[in-house]
Amino acid sequence: MNIILMGPPGAGKGTQAERIAKNFGLLHVSTGDMFREAVKEGTAMGKKAKEYMDKGTLVPDEIVVGIVKERLSKPDAADGVLLDGFPRTVEQAEALDEVLRELGLKLDAVLSVDVDEEELVTRLTGRRVCSNCGTTYHIKFNPPKVRNICDHCGSELYQRSDDTVETVKERLDVYKKQTFPLIEYYKRKGLFQSIDGNQDIEQVFDVVSAYLKKLESKA
Ligand SMILES: [Zn+2]
Repeated sequence: MNIILMGPPGAGKGTQAERIAKNFGLLHVSTGDMFREAVKEGTAMGKKAKEYMDKGTLVPDEIVVGIVKERLSKPDAADGVLLDGFPRTVEQAEALDEVLRELGLKLDAVLSVDVDEEELVTRLTGRRVCSNCGTTYHIKFNPPKVRNICDHCGSELYQRSDDTVETVKERLDVYKKQTFPLIEYYKRKGLFQSIDGNQDIEQVFDVVSAYLKKLESKA
C-alpha cells in the first residue's frame, strides 16, 4: 500500500505519519529525511541537490523528483510507503505518477488530516518557549505550573515570532492556496480522503486505521 499524508501545520500530521507507518508496515518517507539521506550517501541526485543547497538556492523539481525516485527504488520501499511532505504541487504530483509508473508501483490513497482554522490557530499560537533552557510549553495543552515561568529553571517563557496570530494565519493561508490544486488533482483521480483532525490523536488514528484497513481488504 502506498499513500500520501497531507495536513496543515498544527494538524498533527507527523505524529499520525509515525503511527500509520508503524502499524501498517509502511516506510515513512519524509522530504527532509530523504534529502538528508541522499546528500549523506552522495547519490547522483543527492550530489546535485547539494550544489543547490550550498548555493542557498531552491532545489529544482527535477532533482526533488529524482531523489524521490532513488528512494522509492530501494528494496525497503517495496512493501509500501507513506509519503510525508511530498508532493507539494500538481507538477510534482504528475512527476510522481510517472515515477510510480516506471517503478511498477501504484498510489492507493491521499489522506489529509484536516482541522478547523480556529483550532489550528489555538494550537499554533499557544506555544511558549523557555528563554533559558528551551523547554517548550503550550498554554492550553501543556501549561507550566506557574504562568509564564519555566518549571525546570524558573526563567521567563516567550512566544516565538513564528507563533503569533498574524504569522500563523499567514502560514495557514499559504498552505491552503498551495494545496488546493493538489487536492483537486487527487479528488479527480478518486484518491483523496479528508480525515477529521478536530479530535485527539487516538481518535484521529482510529479513523485513519479504519479507512486504511478497508483499503487493504479491497486490494
Ligand atoms: Zn527553563
